[in-house]
Amino acid sequence: MTNASAPLFDRVAIIGIGLIGSSLARAIREYGLARSVVGSDRSEAVCAKALELGFLDAATPDLGEMVSAADLVVLCVPVGACAEVAERMAPHLKPGTIVSDVGSVKMAVLRDVSPHLPEGVHIVPGHPVAGTEHSGPEAGFATLFQGRWCILTPPPGASEAAVEKVAELWRRCGSKLEIMEPAHHDRVLAITSHLPHLIAYTIVGTASDLEEATKSEVIKFSAGGFRDFTRIAASDPVMWRDVFLNNREAVLEILQRFTEDLTALQRAIRWGEGDTLQETFTKTRAIRRGIIDAKQA
Ligand code: NAP
Repeated sequence: MTNASAPLFDRVAIIGIGLIGSSLARAIREYGLARSVVGSDRSEAVCAKALELGFLDAATPDLGEMVSAADLVVLCVPVGACAEVAERMAPHLKPGTIVSDVGSVKMAVLRDVSPHLPEGVHIVPGHPVAGTEHSGPEAGFATLFQGRWCILTPPPGASEAAVEKVAELWRRCGSKLEIMEPAHHDRVLAITSHLPHLIAYTIVGTASDLEEATKSEVIKFSAGGFRDFTRIAASDPVMWRDVFLNNREAVLEILQRFTEDLTALQRAIRWGEGDTLQETFTKTRAIRRGIIDAKQA
């Protein structure tokens, strides 16, 4: 049993001080989850901004210096940067340190990070299913994870104590915890998050390819559903590039299914099959109501 008010860690190092990294740092600070919280980002300006905003005890692009005394390191960089960061920080990690992450894809992170970690360092990959379309250290806030799921995907044989400590960190940030196989995580997120983003990027791209005159009409009448897509399509381009490159198989499989279903609706419209359309829309309305009931709206 952990004392619910005592810090869980001595020193947490956050690598990548953007939306998620700065939100986690703020939550750790605000809820007293570590004696100190430090950060590293490749950008000197981001480190300076984080110190100015006051949610870190120290911050520098010198990765080794920031991780060397940490008992928890959380990678909050885009998924495609995890391998390089793991390789550079590995020689500086002390035995017993837990390495976790917040990446939106889990198989790739495990594949890219684990081989670099020295003996005695524990890996507990994680994914807080929470975010906004904003980026950078100013976009973060301590309450981002409250009431949202956090999925941990520990590899077989992971230290139970390490998994429990990371789980408790997220619980104290207000998250609900789920443990999953990494491959299962990547399939579930392909449909619930990655495909919707791909659709949003496509639909907004199609609209912007239309004639100039039509484009201003698109903006003017965006309340008709389009606006919600533009919000999602404003999400960080680098982060999402890395998600699709690193969850390729699951996304392509789900996309195939989606394309078939879309073609079926296209056919129903062409042949005036109102019953098919109404049945589909009735089913989807029930799903939306289920999401509201589960307080995930
Ligand atoms: P973000 O706001 O863009 O922050 C990422 C930070 O990492 C940036 O400051 C970036 O610097 C820095 N960085 C990139 N490569 C680096 C490297 N090699 N070494 C050190 N720092 C580096 O992104 P975010 O939204 O917080 O996303 C971070 C992670 O959280 C991603 O893996 C993403 O999949 C995951 N995630 C995001 C959301 C969401 O909704 N945004 C939700 C759940 C999980 P530059 O600006 O110079 O590139």
